[in-house]
Amino acid sequence: MTIPPAKTPHILFLFSNTGGGHRASAEAIIESLKLEFGDSISTEMVDFLKDYAPPPYNHLPAIYPDLVRVPELWGVGFHVSNGRRQARIMTSTLWPLVRRAARRLVREHPSDMLVSVHALANSFALKALGKNRPPFITVVTDMVSTHALWYDRQADLILVPTEIARQRALEYAMPPEKVRVVGQPVSERCSAPPGDKRLLRQQLNWPQDKVVVLLVGGGEGMGPLAETARAIDESGLDVGLVIVTGRNVRLEAELKSRAWENPTLIYGFTQDMPFFMHAADVLVTKAGPGTIAEALNAALPIILYAKLPGQEDGNVSFVEQVGAGVWAPEPLLVVRTLTRWICRPAERAKVIENCRRAARPEAARTIARILGAQVGLSK
Ligand code: UDP
Repeated sequence: MTIPPAKTPHILFLFSNTGGGHRASAEAIIESLKLEFGDSISTEMVDFLKDYAPPPYNHLPAIYPDLVRVPELWGVGFHVSNGRRQARIMTSTLWPLVRRAARRLVREHPSDMLVSVHALANSFALKALGKNRPPFITVVTDMVSTHALWYDRQADLILVPTEIARQRALEYAMPPEKVRVVGQPVSERCSAPPGDKRLLRQQLNWPQDKVVVLLVGGGEGMGPLAETARAIDESGLDVGLVIVTGRNVRLEAELKSRAWENPTLIYGFTQDMPFFMHAADVLVTKAGPGTIAEALNAALPIILYAKLPGQEDGNVSFVEQVGAGVWAPEPLLVVRTLTRWICRPAERAKVIENCRRAARPEAARTIARILGAQVGLSK
């Protein structure tokens, strides 16, 4: 039985809409907190960049899709800024510029605990909070190649998705007792029993009699999604295509204006990704950690067609190591893998099994229980 404390604890989540993964992780944890503790807990999400960072940093969520359009540049930025020393220099250089905004944020959103799901939030929020502060927990939402900015020794707890991320934390001098491996949080809807695929496809109005390929480029529809979709469509394979362009409205319009040889459905940003994953047969995606974790939970074989250099390098090796998919950075390689999986169902079945084995469906619930315990709730 849950014994509610005298006052309902309030948890503040710091996230930003740079991509879709940070928001998805925060929402998955909040969903689990509600399932675990019901009304005994209250939560709030703040986009700290858009709503609080001073110009020009508040434009970061809006210009993020343009920044990552040249992945090589993003990769250079990632590598140059990654390291304990670099992180310290960045934080202390920017602090005078963001101090007022950071202090305003914590003043305007009093809470019993803060949870950061974004690498850029940690050090500034901790500095703004000062010494007498509520617990501060970081949930690392990158899988493997985690940037040094995730790891601030002042945080009370760092929850990481993989053992490799834990090793990283230790390399960046985090005290081992503060780091716990919990998995990547995903919505319960991804790991819930899939139900009847035929029924799902009927509800979604998807083709029943074809291998359905789901194409996703993260929350922003990034990478050569159009070229990859076209190569699959023109390959002669008898497939159905479901293309999700996320917030990339230009790409959505472009794809919708095109004639397709195969049955093709094009969606902008959808809230139904968990259903899509259960209804599809193969996922073709950018190597985003959120999408990969969701696909593992939905036992959906993964073809990775693009990645953010640096930040998402480790995700590619992770997927290959666990046997949940392949790295296919050219449209022709995507088609070749698809052809193999269609012609050799036993090979695809093995990949499906590997996805199941690598999934951590309990991650969001585990995190919710850890957070609950920090504010005096237990079940
Ligand atoms: N997503 C979604 N609807 C869309 C496109 C993406 O809900 O139309 C979600 C997707 O399910 C995942 C997240 O956005 O949870 C993308 O996170 P990921 O880490 O894969 O990539 P990012 O967008 O952060 O680069």
